[in-house]
Amino acid sequence: MSQQTQIERVAQRWPKMMTEFPTPKSMAICDEQDVLALWQGLGYYRRAKYLKQAAEMIVDTFDGEVPYEVDLLLQLPGVGRYTAGAVASIAFNKRVPIVDGNVHRVVCRLENKRDTAAPCNWSWEHATELVLHSKTPSVFNEGLMELGATICTPKSPSCELCPLSSECKAYAENTQHEVPPPKTAPKRKQLHHYAVVLRCNGKFAFEQRGDQGLWAGMWQVPTLESTRKLKKAQIAEALQIENDLVLAGSFEHTLTHRIIDFTVYTCEVVKDDRFRWHTSDTLDALPLASAQRKVLAVHCAT
Ligand code: SF4
Repeated sequence: MSQQTQIERVAQRWPKMMTEFPTPKSMAICDEQDVLALWQGLGYYRRAKYLKQAAEMIVDTFDGEVPYEVDLLLQLPGVGRYTAGAVASIAFNKRVPIVDGNVHRVVCRLENKRDTAAPCNWSWEHATELVLHSKTPSVFNEGLMELGATICTPKSPSCELCPLSSECKAYAENTQHEVPPPKTAPKRKQLHHYAVVLRCNGKFAFEQRGDQGLWAGMWQVPTLESTRKLKKAQIAEALQIENDLVLAGSFEHTLTHRIIDFTVYTCEVVKDDRFRWHTSDTLDALPLASAQRKVLAVHCAT
């Protein structure tokens, strides 16, 4: 849950997640929509789908017990090198490395390695060497990540406080501010989403997104996506809405690889079987990405 998501947000959801799904089996037998509903606001919703699939595999293949070897953990959907290393070393104290951005920075500075911006085979190999010499891998890995997060920070490392300063080649050569090199910012695609809040007798229309791609499996008000700006008539025609669309507002939603201009319309219609209709009281249980919560907030503000 905490990959790519601020830990404060995860902390808010964690108790409910553990109450609803205390074991892999409880998640394996639930409806995927229940997991997505609890994941709302955490972003990267594919992780929720993978978590559910991993729970099913743990039950079907590993007798309901989370495996503790990295090669077995790597078989689980959505589990990569980092997560496998984290589970194996922190939960099971296996002598295996974890390399996140913080650890990568620390090991690059220790060796004054100046040519790799992000975790790579070199940093994994170096972190493996280090953890092999540790007494308690779980404490060692946590310590290395914490050192990177609090002392060996990207812009102003506190080398005078660092317990590794006598071993650090970047510190010795005063290159710590140049190592590792900065990452190039991802290029973001500009998109336009036209969201229409259809209302009928106090209910709102929702549709489910497809199984693949952005916000897979989540729900949304009828939304038209485009790479260019569209006129109101084009939106109404594409969404097959005959009544007049009324502009409610707009906002920009930024994701890692996309900047999405949301334009929100509202429209009073007769009930239409293409959609699922909800009152505002039942929306909490509906898996909606945070962009769609913003759409509803724009609509409510009008
Ligand atoms: S001495 Fe400075 S650059 Fe080297 S590991 Fe410690 S904080 Fe990082």
